[in-house]
Amino acid sequence: MDMSLVFIGTGASTPSARRGLPSLLIRRGGEHLLFDCGEGTQRQLVRSVGLPDLDAIFITHFHADHWLGLPGMLKSFALRDREAPLRIYGPPGLKEIMAQVKFVYGRLPYELSIEELGPMEAVARGGYTIGSVPVRHRVKVAYGYVLVEDSRPGHLDAELAASLGVTPGPDFGRLQRGETVAGVRPEQVMGPTRDGRKVAITGDTAPCEAMQVAAHRADLLVHEATFADDEVERARETQHSTARQAAEVARAAEVRMLALTHISTRYAGKELRDQAREVFPDTEAPRDFDAIELPFTERGAPKLIRWRADAGRPPQAQGAGEPTEPPAAGEQTQRQAAAAQTNPSPTTDRVGAA
Ligand SMILES: [Zn+2]
Ligand SMILES: [Zn+2]
Repeated sequence: MDMSLVFIGTGASTPSARRGLPSLLIRRGGEHLLFDCGEGTQRQLVRSVGLPDLDAIFITHFHADHWLGLPGMLKSFALRDREAPLRIYGPPGLKEIMAQVKFVYGRLPYELSIEELGPMEAVARGGYTIGSVPVRHRVKVAYGYVLVEDSRPGHLDAELAASLGVTPGPDFGRLQRGETVAGVRPEQVMGPTRDGRKVAITGDTAPCEAMQVAAHRADLLVHEATFADDEVERARETQHSTARQAAEVARAAEVRMLALTHISTRYAGKELRDQAREVFPDTEAPRDFDAIELPFTERGAPKLIRWRADAGRPPQAQGAGEPTEPPAAGEQTQRQAAAAQTNPSPTTDRVGAA
């Protein structure tokens, strides 16, 4: 089953031309899970992979940069007649905060459930669980989340099974489900059970032991890295992390790959990545819309896929169905001129950010 993460917003606190506010999309099979939903997340989704019918949303904490995009997104789902239920999970306080913004989205045509999780509480979903990990940030409660897939049956040695008299086809499936077939027991022809994949997402936090333990041997650790080395004191005061500190957590947790996010507007990203790589070489600093593909462990290492404006967008993301109104005479030229001055195209924007 395919699994990938798309970095929808990789900035911290305030958006910049390069980075939107925090949001991360996990695609697993046909499911879409969103972690945090900063202001502008809808637009970021529409610009990259399209606005999917999310199955669940997980909020890490209630600083405005992590959740203000929710009310508008709930409203958009209503406007396009969503019917499937939607669940939002978060720390205690989620119900109160959603009640305060309910006037924005009003009555919804779909069922919305809002669930407050206790610390270290696991939500079991089909084939995986997502657990909340209390982290160290300057709010009452902030969570990171860890997604752990269920373990998978071992590899079936088809030749061996056939040589022992099992007919290829449905009987192989029965063996894989743990049944004895034609006197052949599963353990005779199958390798050891294989672990599923694991992804840890820190949200905002100072370096945190609970997170390090929870992320142990994860395929991917997405760690906040708000600051570089020169701001280590500021990171301590505000309970954020430097890139180097994130790398130290990654090394101690023995993860396969570290991805840095929640990057302060003062950094391009490359300098943070380089500082982290001195400690943990398998570090990436994704830009907005970059993705990381996570194959099963035996099929290869996690891989960063750089986003290209002209590739990888599903047809529905390309503005199909949006009414296009021609601009008034002169307006287009003005807009283009303004855009060229203040808002370089994504391609130009990326030069130098590597
Ligand atoms: Zn933040
Ligand atoms: Zn915060």
